[in-house]
Amino acid sequence: MSGTNQDTVSLEKIVSLCKRRGFVYPTAEIYGGLNGVYDFGPIGTILKNNIKKIWLKNIQSFEEEVILLDGSILGPQNVWKASGHTEHFSDQMVDCQNCKKRFRVDEIKLEKPCPSCGIKKWTEARQFQLMFETNVGAVSDKSSIAYLRPETAQSIFINFKNVLSSTRVKIPFGIAQIGKAFRNEVTPKQFLFRIREFEQMELEFFCKEKNSDKYFEEWIQRRKNFYLKIGLNPKKIKFREHEKDELAHYSKRCMDIEYNFPFGFKELEGIAYRTNYDLIQHSKISGKDLSVFDPNTNESFIPHVIESSSGVERIFLTLLFDSYNEDIIEGEQRISLKLNPKLAPINAAILPLTKKLSEQTIKIYTNLKNKNFKVQFDESGSIGKRYRRQDEIGTPVCFTYDFDSLKDQKVTARNRDTLEQKRISIDQLENYLTDLLDK
Ligand code: ATP
Repeated sequence: MSGTNQDTVSLEKIVSLCKRRGFVYPTAEIYGGLNGVYDFGPIGTILKNNIKKIWLKNIQSFEEEVILLDGSILGPQNVWKASGHTEHFSDQMVDCQNCKKRFRVDEIKLEKPCPSCGIKKWTEARQFQLMFETNVGAVSDKSSIAYLRPETAQSIFINFKNVLSSTRVKIPFGIAQIGKAFRNEVTPKQFLFRIREFEQMELEFFCKEKNSDKYFEEWIQRRKNFYLKIGLNPKKIKFREHEKDELAHYSKRCMDIEYNFPFGFKELEGIAYRTNYDLIQHSKISGKDLSVFDPNTNESFIPHVIESSSGVERIFLTLLFDSYNEDIIEGEQRISLKLNPKLAPINAAILPLTKKLSEQTIKIYTNLKNKNFKVQFDESGSIGKRYRRQDEIGTPVCFTYDFDSLKDQKVTARNRDTLEQKRISIDQLENYLTDLLDK
């Protein structure tokens, strides 16, 4: 996927492309927006769904069973007390008394002046709780406090017993979930990289303690292969194991998969060995037995957990950076997204050379649409402009119906990356697209 002009990409260019082409809009923009929250437009929604689909397919493609769960966003206080989030899930922050900007203490140097205004006048560092708190029901007191989940994982742990007793799964197995998570980040930034409302794709893989190292390594390889398979540039991916003092309160080992964004190598996904911390904690606080019985050894045990946790929006942003390409075509600058065809929001654009040919072209469009391909029909503007529009949303191929098509029942297929043009029979378009999406 790596383009020829990778160094030309910048955050500003991605933000502008996202708005221009309907990938992402700032939430409530007509009211001035809401910091760290975004809406996804028509094209962005498809890309997001494609990411989720490909993740799910991949995570369920291994020999061990992986089943699904869709937990609630709201949860009672005890869940987060047990998980340790009430106590530990906070960041230290300081404010600049001069320009009023707020920073996470681990992101700046307190002995230096404020990076925003250049004056050194910090407030005392304070803890900042990252969970969004709300009240459930008519009475707003301490007993009605609930939280919007800051990670999807806990829904899996608190349902562990239900899943065991309502399905036939046996250890080792995984429970996967895709869903919204909320964090009142001190400093949301870098567009979709750090936001306050996002979607996580998490897998909690339950195994015996003695196999935990083996599965930890195994999932690191599996997740690495996933990113290579979706087409990320291998040179931009690296692994970083957490130092002991960096580990979250629940984990014994953690490997971050990082991507080289224009703002540096940053976490794309975390793979953590969570031990059996969460199940033990929920067992303690709820008073319910969350152990598993092994009939072969006649023993009960609390399984250990390997977690793979990634953010849909972070992968979305990574794909945009990684596939962004600029080149000059016939003296004009062109922007294209060299997305893997499986992820590209639109499979193919169906274009009449002139409006006079729209009627015949729409038939091709309707036929492919009815066969469940994501296709777009576009008749307005010069053909060059229409190609550019499709290039910018990463459409791998455009089919153009011209006057010759009336005679030979063929269209011109133009490839987004090679710009190669070849004639294809209209009755072969379905096969052509199937092959393209299968590769
Ligand atoms: P950080 O240290 O950057 O705040 P974290 O280590 O707390 O992140 P995790 O709890 O490991 O993040 O979250 C797992 C994944 O969820 C991350 O790898 C990322 O893809 C995604 N994620 C976490 N927080 C955010 C956020 N604020 N915005 C977008 N995605 C996020």
